[in-house]
Amino acid sequence: MSAVESILNVDDYDPGRYARTKVLRLAGFSVLEARTGEETLRIAAEHRPTLILLDVNLPDMSGFEVCRRLRESPETSAATIVHFSASSIQSHHLVSGLEGGADTYLVEPVDPSVLVATIHAFLRARRAEEALRRSNAELEWFAHRAAHDLKEPLRTIAIQAELLKQDLKGSVEPGIQTSLQFVMDAAQRMASLIDGLLCFARVNYGGNAAEVDGEALFAEVCESLQGAIRDSGARITHGKLPIIVAEPGLEEVFQNLIANAIKYRREHIPPQIHVSAQAEAGSWRFSIQDNGIGIEPGPHREAIFKIFTRLHGQSIPGSGIGLALARKIVETQGGRIWVESEPGAGSTFHFTIPKDARSLRK
Ligand code: ADP
Repeated sequence: MSAVESILNVDDYDPGRYARTKVLRLAGFSVLEARTGEETLRIAAEHRPTLILLDVNLPDMSGFEVCRRLRESPETSAATIVHFSASSIQSHHLVSGLEGGADTYLVEPVDPSVLVATIHAFLRARRAEEALRRSNAELEWFAHRAAHDLKEPLRTIAIQAELLKQDLKGSVEPGIQTSLQFVMDAAQRMASLIDGLLCFARVNYGGNAAEVDGEALFAEVCESLQGAIRDSGARITHGKLPIIVAEPGLEEVFQNLIANAIKYRREHIPPQIHVSAQAEAGSWRFSIQDNGIGIEPGPHREAIFKIFTRLHGQSIPGSGIGLALARKIVETQGGRIWVESEPGAGSTFHFTIPKDARSLRK
């Protein structure tokens, strides 16, 4: 068993703690012990056990309080916490334990084989989560690095092509000037793709949740899109938008969806866009409805949420990053994003943000 997978066995009742430690050691775990809340906090900070088996009833403080303090401290917040207590437990205790940050709650007496199997299951899930987190971090680093390193030579290509074009002005056949212009346009397009990639790689939301006023957010987004709104003659209406508590990034989601609703409009038909919000069980559903060109049904409709997937060719400018970015932001918060569409009539993009009982304006 590796040193990182040590278990802290916390119980003030000596025979119980002794028996549990014995079972865990026999199963191959490295086991530390604590008898009180204070001892638990100290040993956990010092040894950083992977998993803490935490009795709810301790002499100096409740196990719930210990759990809360373990979660608050950066040194111990990542530990898996398994509460246990006697069979006289009431369900509201169970709920308090889980809501207070415990990963599960076992009720004594627990069969030794069940205890070991439960710990194995938690450690398996934890290893998978850590591997995923590492691989995500590596991918983000790679994308960030690649995008940065590509920008420099690209800038040189763009500058040199521009200089060459100016030097050769009037002295060469127009075909060469046109070719140079192609090089410059391609360099510019690639620069904007790299910027998008950088932006996508940088999005590592999941930061602190804060209050977001839907009405204010909508006004800000409309303000930043006012050029496109004016040029297209778009009419944007909205229903009542709630104040919610959400993690960073919602503004970008609205911005991308409304910008697309303007961009993918039908010829000679000014965009009519309606933004609305609806309370559902456990989440808020936001919808952005347009009267644009729509999207044909089929697998590619789902694929538009993947990075660099574009359906409508180069005649409408874009980098294929906006919806991937929106999906990353929404899914990081535990939400979902999808589209309903009728080709030639319009699309409605929906996304959800979990309420988590945190919504302020009903
Ligand atoms: P971009 O707009 O830069 O191409 P997005 O990721 O925002 O990138 O969108 C991906 C593709 O999804 C677009 O290229 C377009 O084909 C399609 N799409 C997005 N929004 C709409 C919309 N409102 N109506 C029709 N098609 C859309």
